[in-house]
Amino acid sequence: MMIIMNISSTPKQIEAVVARIEVNGFKAHISQGDERTVIGVVGNHNPISTREQFVRLPGVDRIVAISRPYKIASREFIPQNTTFPLDGVQMGGDQVIMIAGPCAVEDRVQLLETAIAVKEAGAQALRGGAYKPRSSPYSFQGLGEEGLEILAEAREKTGLPVVTEAMAPELVPLIAEYVDVIQIGARNMQNFALLHAAGESQHPILLKRGNAASIEELLMAAEYILSHGNRRVILCERGIRTFETSTRNTTDINAVPVLKSLTHLPVIVDPSHSTGKWEYVTPVARAAVAAGADGLIVEVHLNPEQALSDGGQSLKPERFAELVRQSRAIARAVGRC
Ligand code: PEP
Ligand code: MN
Repeated sequence: MMIIMNISSTPKQIEAVVARIEVNGFKAHISQGDERTVIGVVGNHNPISTREQFVRLPGVDRIVAISRPYKIASREFIPQNTTFPLDGVQMGGDQVIMIAGPCAVEDRVQLLETAIAVKEAGAQALRGGAYKPRSSPYSFQGLGEEGLEILAEAREKTGLPVVTEAMAPELVPLIAEYVDVIQIGARNMQNFALLHAAGESQHPILLKRGNAASIEELLMAAEYILSHGNRRVILCERGIRTFETSTRNTTDINAVPVLKSLTHLPVIVDPSHSTGKWEYVTPVARAAVAAGADGLIVEVHLNPEQALSDGGQSLKPERFAELVRQSRAIARAVGRC
C-alpha cells in the first residue's frame, strides 16, 4: 500500500504518517518526488483495514494499493531507478557497467593477470568464483578462502571492485570482508536462508535468475533481500532452460525490458552462462545492451582451453576488449555510455 501525500503536505504531517505506520509494526519507505511525497507501507498484510487508519490523517491525499506480489522491488513503489556506486562507477546510471573475469579463481597469477587484462580492456569490475556451484561433485569446487584472499589482492592492485559468489548463508559475513559485491547464483535464487543473509548484509547483491525461474519469481527473491533491509540489489538474466539444445541456456532478452518496466533495480545480463559458447557471447552482449541492460557480466580466461571451469564459454582478453568496444558503440546508440 502507498500513501500519496498532498502537494502541500508539511514535514510534520509526513512524520506523523510515518510514526503511525511504525506504531502499527510496519515499515515506512519514503520516496520524495519532484512534486509530492509518497510513503510506502511494507509488511501490512491486511491493506483494507490498514487503509482506514491513514486515509483521514492530515496531509494525506489518497491511498493506492500495490497490485504486485512484490512491493519494495516494484516500480509502483519506487518509480525512480535505483543507482549506487561501485567504487568510482555508478551501477544503474547512464554507463553500462562491464564486469569481467574468470569463472573461477584458479591461482594467484591467473587471477592477477586476468584482472589487469580485463581492466585494460575496459572492465569496471572483476568477477571470479572462490566457491563454485558445480553440477558434478568431482569438478573443481573453488579455492575457498584462499580464493577470497587472491581476489582482495587483485582489488588492491587494480582498484577494480570485486564480485564473487556466496553459496551458504554462514559464508556471507566472511565473503563480505574480502569483496565488494556478493553474487547469489542461479542455483541458489530461491535459497531463502541465503537471501535472508544477503538482506542483512551491507553489501550490494548480484542476484542471478534461476534457470527455470519466472521473472516474477526472480523479483520475489529480490524482495526477500530488500525486505531484510538491503536495498542494493542487481538483477541478472543468465539464460533459462528451454527445449533448445544448441546453446547451454536460452538468453531471455525479453527479460531486460520486462524487468526495467516492473522494477527500479539495475538489470544486467550474463552472455557467458546464457549461451555457454564463447563465439555467441559478443553478439548476445550486443543484444543485451541494445535491449537496455545496465551492465554485463562476462567470463574471461587467459587460456580458455586450460580453464578449470567454463572454458568453452570464456573469452580471451583480446576478444573481451572487442566485446567492450562493440557494446559501448551500441550503448551510445541507445543513449547510454
Ligand atoms: C557463475 O557466475 O560462475 C555461475 C555459476 O553462474 P550461474 O549461477 O548463473 O550458473
Ligand atoms: Mn561460470
